[in-house]
Amino acid sequence: MSVQPASLPDIRADVVVIGTGLIGATLAVALASAGVSVVAIDRLAPAAMTDMRFDGRTTAVAWGARRALSRIGVWETMAPHAEPILDIRISDGRLEPERVTAATSLLHLHFDHREAGEGPDRAPAMGYIVENRHMRLALFQRLAALPLAVLLAPATIARVERGEHGVETTLGDGRIVRAALVVSAEGRGGGGLRESAKIRVGGWSYGQMAIVCVARHERPHRGVAQEKFLPGGPFAILPMTNDETGAHRSSIVWSERTDLATAVLALDDGSFAREFAARFGDHLGVVAPVGPRFHYPLSLSQAERYVDRRLALVGDAAHAIHPIAGQGWNLGLRDIAALAEVVVDAKRLGLDIGGANTLARYESWRRVDNLALLAATDALNRLFSNDIPPLRALRDLGLAAVNEVAPLRRFFMRHAMGVVGDLPKLVRGEPL
Ligand SMILES: Cc1cc2nc3c(=O)[nH]c(=O)nc-3n(C[C@H](O)[C@H](O)[C@H](O)COP(=O)(O)OP(=O)(O)OC[C@H]3O[C@@H](n4cnc5c(N)ncnc54)[C@H](O)[C@@H]3O)c2cc1C
Repeated sequence: MSVQPASLPDIRADVVVIGTGLIGATLAVALASAGVSVVAIDRLAPAAMTDMRFDGRTTAVAWGARRALSRIGVWETMAPHAEPILDIRISDGRLEPERVTAATSLLHLHFDHREAGEGPDRAPAMGYIVENRHMRLALFQRLAALPLAVLLAPATIARVERGEHGVETTLGDGRIVRAALVVSAEGRGGGGLRESAKIRVGGWSYGQMAIVCVARHERPHRGVAQEKFLPGGPFAILPMTNDETGAHRSSIVWSERTDLATAVLALDDGSFAREFAARFGDHLGVVAPVGPRFHYPLSLSQAERYVDRRLALVGDAAHAIHPIAGQGWNLGLRDIAALAEVVVDAKRLGLDIGGANTLARYESWRRVDNLALLAATDALNRLFSNDIPPLRALRDLGLAAVNEVAPLRRFFMRHAMGVVGDLPKLVRGEPL
């Protein structure tokens, strides 16, 4: 039976969120958990976004972000699938083809979560590795349980009109969603809203691709995340929960120059496993890649503005960074925690939640933090993704120096844990 557009009821909400990836869905949950009505729209169905073949990545959920997820009622569902990150080991290495192995420098850097903070600041882990699929499942489950949230997915958007007094979003089926604010969580491609607001985006491609897959290994990882800086890019080994058979697993983010990555992805299983094992090493016993190989082109982008009339950009739609430090989603999480806070404050005070003052508060809050991390991840990737001898010497000495100085180690750890700076309430673990 076809439904005529005229017979479909219009919807009214405080906020309409376009895009229900890991950022848009989290924002919708945060708002609806705090008394703000929200309509969340995605062109894809939840079943497609939670399919095993859709997204093979894991996310390093920093300690601050985990506090926010607890506050909005999604962490409990994710927790059984979350592996604590207890230690991080960073080393510089190079491939030695004649031995088919990745030799690592003796100079390295080691972070131990027990050093990160004392007293109330003490966290049981620096963060957690969670499969994106399980994050999405937990977010959609929570969204479905919130009376103030409506999820329209799959749905297409025909038009968004942002007027002085409100936003009208016309869907492909003719329905109209009226709200005071529209949020673009449309990802790094930007969807249509960023362009329609004529917000320019700066950035560049890294000429690198991330190959993502799962490794099964003989010995347990003991909560240790490893990052080996190889000339083509970082090779990250991230601790995962054991699989249903009890096998030990790690998630791999293997960054490589695009031409090499394309060749690696085309290898047959045996050759791929050999290249893989050469980079992984034998510290966890016998290792093998399992399941599908995913790949993601790597780029940096930053929108010149995060806001326009009754419009806010969040997550990758506002800024996208290299996954070298596992911080892209964490930055987006801080965006949405800040945006949810200014919206909830405005609503409680009877102010316009999509008004220029509310949006200006959001933009000024988030700009500096995002720019700082953008610059830091870019510099790290440039410094480490090469084999230039003077740079190698410099970075190895840098790693060793930081490793020797406890306050410096603590400084970096607390940044990685997302507990530094002007934190929104949710990231401090407080209610909105
Ligand atoms: C290899 C790799 C590893 C990473 N690891 C980490 C990590 O460990 N830790 C970390 O913090 N970050 C990590 N990141 C970054 C993180 O994955 C991203 O920052 C995050 O997923 C961005 O989420 P998003 O919701 O903003 O965008 P997306 O995931 O791109 O979601 C956008 C959504 O919007 C929808 N959409 C777009 N346009 C429209 C439209 N017009 N109408 C309707 N729907 C629309 C899309 O269908 C999609 O569902 C990693 C990134 C990569 C590439």
